[in-house]
Amino acid sequence: MTTPLPSLQEIASCVSGYDPNALPVAQAKEFIDRLTPRVEAVESLAIRSALGRVLARDIVSAIDVPAHDNSAMDGFALAAADLRDGADTALPVVGTAFAGEAFAGNVGRGEAVRIMTGAVMPAGLDTVVPQEFTRSDGNRVVIPAGVVRAGDNRRLAGEDLARGEAALRAGRILSPADLGLLASLGQAEVPVFRRLRVAFFSTGDELRSIGEPLDEGCVYDSNRYTLWGMLQRLGVEVIDMGVVRDDPAALEKAFRDAAAAADAVITSGGVSVGEADHTKQVMASLGDVLFWKIAMRPGRPMAIGRIGAVDQPGKPPAILFGLPGNPVAVMVTFYAFVRDALLAMSGAQVAALPMLRAAATAPIRKKPGRTEYQRGIVSHGADGQWQVQITGSQGSGILRSMSVANGLVVLHHEQGSVDAGGLVDVLPFDGLV
Ligand code: AMP
Ligand code: MG
Repeated sequence: MTTPLPSLQEIASCVSGYDPNALPVAQAKEFIDRLTPRVEAVESLAIRSALGRVLARDIVSAIDVPAHDNSAMDGFALAAADLRDGADTALPVVGTAFAGEAFAGNVGRGEAVRIMTGAVMPAGLDTVVPQEFTRSDGNRVVIPAGVVRAGDNRRLAGEDLARGEAALRAGRILSPADLGLLASLGQAEVPVFRRLRVAFFSTGDELRSIGEPLDEGCVYDSNRYTLWGMLQRLGVEVIDMGVVRDDPAALEKAFRDAAAAADAVITSGGVSVGEADHTKQVMASLGDVLFWKIAMRPGRPMAIGRIGAVDQPGKPPAILFGLPGNPVAVMVTFYAFVRDALLAMSGAQVAALPMLRAAATAPIRKKPGRTEYQRGIVSHGADGQWQVQITGSQGSGILRSMSVANGLVVLHHEQGSVDAGGLVDVLPFDGLV
């Protein structure tokens, strides 16, 4: 039996300082984190197909990597005990150890073996002196004093990964290095969570799709393209449902179809106060939905909640992210809330994004009591430190500001205006998704 989901009101009561009409960003994040479920279904993929996917189980190494002590250099393997203190050491070379095969010969005290990078260390030898530090004298190798210490240039069995050690933890988004690590364990397939399905559509009667004539007072729907791009970067499965007319029946059908098909539904537009269209009413009538005014700029209005799939009793409700319509507000609310929420829903362990500290090139006006996300261009100053310049007009309809910027200047809730030269936090776009 499944336990009933807590209602949105119950979740709100767990968030201290919850105020839907002036909700601080931190409280909104906490609420969303409590609201969002995690996918459970797991599939097994060939490692090359798993790049960017979320690991579903810890991967424990069944072998030592490397499996044997081996040489890190081309040179001569020897026993450090045979090195003379403060004088040249000459040792007879009794054979060669090649990578990929066990050394066939026997090595006695006071003897050396020529060795290749990656070759297994012959029994009894513990140190490798690189070839370029040595000279030969007949069949002996001469090692000058002081060029090598005990254990140098020897890789230890299990130093990369010891048998039984967790090589990768569940919740990790698999990187190129992780694919290599999995391969080094000899693992052909890897368990990952199924991809999250995210449906999205735009609302607003003034919106036209590309290819349609732009009637008087209309704008092209750009939000579906920025959203599509941001979702692609997250590696979720996207379901683009187009522009939905401001008509209760059309909206209801769109929400129902989206909730039936997806784990999360993202809409843009129609959630502001005094909005004349039907989006808010339809959202409220179909699910458990809250309408927030967030203490942030841009992006104040937002709807959040759950919408059930009527014809599929077993399917959990979809999480609704009703974003504001302004093109910059869509991107900022996506990065502030939706990105982390979708990653968490995908099963990923999400760490806070790293921010740069950069000096403002000019004063920045900011009111305490809300979080502001201004668009900035980060560069290296003459002093070699990061500096950031705000990209002109910060209007939430000016999408070009996001395109020109290479980062978001995050002015925190309590923070006030910043003087020229003052340090601010910047969230770089590179690597954001
Ligand atoms: P709304 O949140 O619906 O009041 O929309 C705020 C502003 O964003 C209005 O100027 C809308 O025309 C604009 N807008 C809403 N949706 C979109 C969209 N999908 N693409 C471009 N602009 C939009
Ligand atoms: Mg509107």
